[in-house]
Amino acid sequence: MEKDTRGGEGPNRQGREPDGKNGFFNFLVIGIVITFALNIVVGGFSANQRVEIGYGQFLSLVEADAVKHVRIENDQIALTLKEDASAGRVREILGADNSAGGMQVPENGKAGSRVFYTGRLDDPALVERLNSKNVAFYRPIIRSNPIMEFISSWIFPLLIFYVVYFFIMRKFSAQMGGGMGGILNAGKSKAKYYDMEKNTHVSFDDVAGQDEAKESLKEMVDYLHRPEKYQEIGAKQPKGALLVGPPGTGKTLLAKAVAGEAKVAFLSLSGSEFVEMFVGVGASRVRDLFAQAAKHAPCIIFIDEIDAIGKSRDNQMGGNDEREQTLNQLLAEMDGFDSSKGILILAATNRPEILDKALLRPGRFDRRIIVEKPDLPGREAILLVHAKKVRLEKTVNLREIALATSGAAGADLANMINEAALRAVRLGRNEVTQEDLMEAVETVIAGKEKKDRILSKKEKRMVAFHEVGHALASALQKHSQPVHKITIVPRTMGALGYTMNLPEEEHYLLTKSDLLAQITCLLAGRAAEEIEFGEMSTGAANDIERATRLARNMVTQYGMSERFGLMSLESLQNQYLDGRNVFTASEASGGDVDREVAGILENCHTEALHLLRENRDKLSDIAACLIERETISGAEFMEFLEEQKSA
Ligand code: ADP
Ligand code: MG
Ligand code: ZN
Repeated sequence: MEKDTRGGEGPNRQGREPDGKNGFFNFLVIGIVITFALNIVVGGFSANQRVEIGYGQFLSLVEADAVKHVRIENDQIALTLKEDASAGRVREILGADNSAGGMQVPENGKAGSRVFYTGRLDDPALVERLNSKNVAFYRPIIRSNPIMEFISSWIFPLLIFYVVYFFIMRKFSAQMGGGMGGILNAGKSKAKYYDMEKNTHVSFDDVAGQDEAKESLKEMVDYLHRPEKYQEIGAKQPKGALLVGPPGTGKTLLAKAVAGEAKVAFLSLSGSEFVEMFVGVGASRVRDLFAQAAKHAPCIIFIDEIDAIGKSRDNQMGGNDEREQTLNQLLAEMDGFDSSKGILILAATNRPEILDKALLRPGRFDRRIIVEKPDLPGREAILLVHAKKVRLEKTVNLREIALATSGAAGADLANMINEAALRAVRLGRNEVTQEDLMEAVETVIAGKEKKDRILSKKEKRMVAFHEVGHALASALQKHSQPVHKITIVPRTMGALGYTMNLPEEEHYLLTKSDLLAQITCLLAGRAAEEIEFGEMSTGAANDIERATRLARNMVTQYGMSERFGLMSLESLQNQYLDGRNVFTASEASGGDVDREVAGILENCHTEALHLLRENRDKLSDIAACLIERETISGAEFMEFLEEQKSA
């Protein structure tokens, strides 16, 4: 999506990159070819007219007074014959020696053929021999070719330097996420350009269920479209908006939709891309980003995961220079630019509480747009948007899926639809059925079915009673949710079986009775084991954990205990990520809280035991049926219950 527009018109993007490997290899190949050609020409030139003779022949020629003068070089000796040397004698010497047998011996005294070469041996007596025969000899002073000198002293080092530089560059740019130019360009922003018409085919219609968020953003789109309307009465455009919400709720999608709707350029980058290993790079990236934005105005700058740079500066642990500089630069730029030019800054985060207060003050990110996890109608709408992309069977009921997925974010729902479609293909169908969708939901909740895990008879019985215990407890209590399915097919995420409850509608408020009923249902699994087997198993660990959390929240957050009454004992941190609770009361209260929680759990456990004991025969009947069939639907389960009642 981004590739084709990357590197559009930014001045920093043009022609900087050495055409990668290609350029370099071309260069290398041409160099090698030229060198070869030169060698052949030069070599051929000199090889053509040289006649080589043996050292012995050379000495004989000297002895025979046939040599006029001798040039001694590093590794060879060139001898020139006297004009008056007898050709017969010379031929005798040269022809007599076997080693020169194949060589051409000059017929007559042509100038060119009077010069012979021989390899130079380590011969200390040579000078003496030449002297005694009055042969002139000399050794030339080696003066190298000026061109070669130039090449070896200038071009060669340059070449080496270039090669080293080239590889270092490559390494750096690889480290910096493929940005070109490595060190030299480290400061340039990596903003990507999104060509609206071609690329973000995202509109507000693609974002389902976030009506309030869309409402706020629509106004900004409108401003980008028709600024006069607002400027007329003196209204200023908000400079920026911060999208806040849990992961996967569609923040990035919304930002793209704003750009798509406004049909303006969209510069997007992630907060972490500002922070580099060099101090000062982030700041210069920010500067560059805003400079680019000014060029492309009207446009939208989108900084995803802004908490990477927007972290509060006042932390005690030394702080991070680079990040602070970057943040300061961002603050300065946000103050500096003129919003009437039509630049809008959007940012997304799921940790708004750690952001620096300066970022959030009016004039910077004036607006905070909460992008919550979708509620029931929202989930249905999101499912609908994504279901349009796959072929659904007519009977599919998306509302049921929406009911089953309380707490899921948009990304989860999109994923479920896709998983369902994949399953349909796997099973050789060409339409997605309700069953596919339900299975996808269960896969997300409990993991994939694990058909190869074989439980022993005893274990299977225990799991069955445990699950029926859950189901019965929820069916028998007024405040609990209807059973949708009971199964004892093991799943990959550790569950050996599970009971799925589906609410009939979504609740936004839970009463104390609702909570107690939930805890009772959770503990009924263990209660059933105790009743039937007089034994406990490890299968209840997850139930106990969840029950404890609920009970603890009742005491510490909801003010539902007698001991503490309305006192708040815990506060929620990081609510858009892991939602951790932090204990805020004194340590002394800690022990009391634990006792309160244990009390609630104990009461619910007793209640569960009581419920199941009263319905002991239903428990064993339904469990027997479950062992046989492995899965019972909610409707079948209710039938069983009614039957038993009337019997
Ligand atoms: P985040 O909030 O983490 O930035 P994204 O915007 O990246 O989440 O969402 C990831 C994907 O989830 C989107 O590409 C989209 O397919 C899907 N999605 C999330 N929320 C919605 C929504 N409200 N409507 C439609 N699809 C959504
Ligand atoms: Mg995102
Ligand atoms: Zn259980």
